[in-house]
Amino acid sequence: REVELLTLNELPAETRDGKRIVLKANIEVPEETESAIAHGAEGIGLYRSEFLFLQPGGYSSEDVQYDAYARVLKAMAPYGEVTIRTLDVGGDKVIPGMAGLDEKNPILGWRAVRFCLSRKDLFRTQLRAMLRASVHGRLRIMFPMISGIEELENVLALLDECRQQLREESIPFAEDIPVGIMIEVPSAALTADILARKVDFFSIGTNDLIQYTIAVDRGNEKIAYLYEPFHPGVLRLLKRIIEDAHNAGIPVAMCGEVAGDPYAAVILLGFGLDVFSMSSFGIPEVKKIIRSVSMSEAEELVGTIMEMKSYKEIDSYVRSWMNERF
Ligand code: PEP
Ligand code: MG
Repeated sequence: REVELLTLNELPAETRDGKRIVLKANIEVPEETESAIAHGAEGIGLYRSEFLFLQPGGYSSEDVQYDAYARVLKAMAPYGEVTIRTLDVGGDKVIPGMAGLDEKNPILGWRAVRFCLSRKDLFRTQLRAMLRASVHGRLRIMFPMISGIEELENVLALLDECRQQLREESIPFAEDIPVGIMIEVPSAALTADILARKVDFFSIGTNDLIQYTIAVDRGNEKIAYLYEPFHPGVLRLLKRIIEDAHNAGIPVAMCGEVAGDPYAAVILLGFGLDVFSMSSFGIPEVKKIIRSVSMSEAEELVGTIMEMKSYKEIDSYVRSWMNERF
């Protein structure tokens, strides 16, 4: 297995007809960077910064954050870019002393950029720490839970303000940092054409996008049977997000669990997804699948399932299609 992994690491994630796909890793703490490299990740597609805040007081200073970001950026520099997501607190991510507590509907509540925009003091320390760390590698900044254009304009304005501050303090940072957003709220998915003109990339967060599209709590066992990644409604959204982004000339990544699901890989290829980001351990298997299919096969599969009416029908068709080949 070790030997197979090493050989596979040297091979590109390329379909049989030559479409190059980029496979990246999701991490939660800097220590995971090593595993990402060992599994052949060509970058970090999602660094969940929440874990820096999961400590007494719920707060990491600008310098503590800077050290963590710089460490990941330095380690990954020879391999690829590092996409750091700004604080996604609230909802299912409760941080003691911060958002997410005592709300009737925390999933629909004061979370992620909504929280950060009302705590600009905290938000600025994170944006400054990221910008300062950018000199150590290839940083990309990503904002979670964007629901519309005004929210996006507000976070971009704050980022500009932080850049300006650093310039005034003569603190260096990279000038060409790509800035993107997660597409994980249905209103963002449905206005992807508008949002795409304001950012450098999208990353689809299927964990939340499925939750909000089907109105099914991602953590509730009683209704887990309704959490359907191949629900026709979800698939239509995914297809549309990717098409709208490509029409605007920006690439699309996916960093939700679906990106690491071997049964979803060919569908995502068929939709034209550019970057798959997942837990490091999933990379070799997804790479093997990508290397053994062609884009025309993937597009044909997508053409067939997009005509189907139910999750059940799509799911069983995809499973037998995959099981026949893999
Ligand atoms: C997602 O929602 O799909 C995602 C990647 O973010 P998280 O799981 O951290 O909410
Ligand atoms: Mg999410």
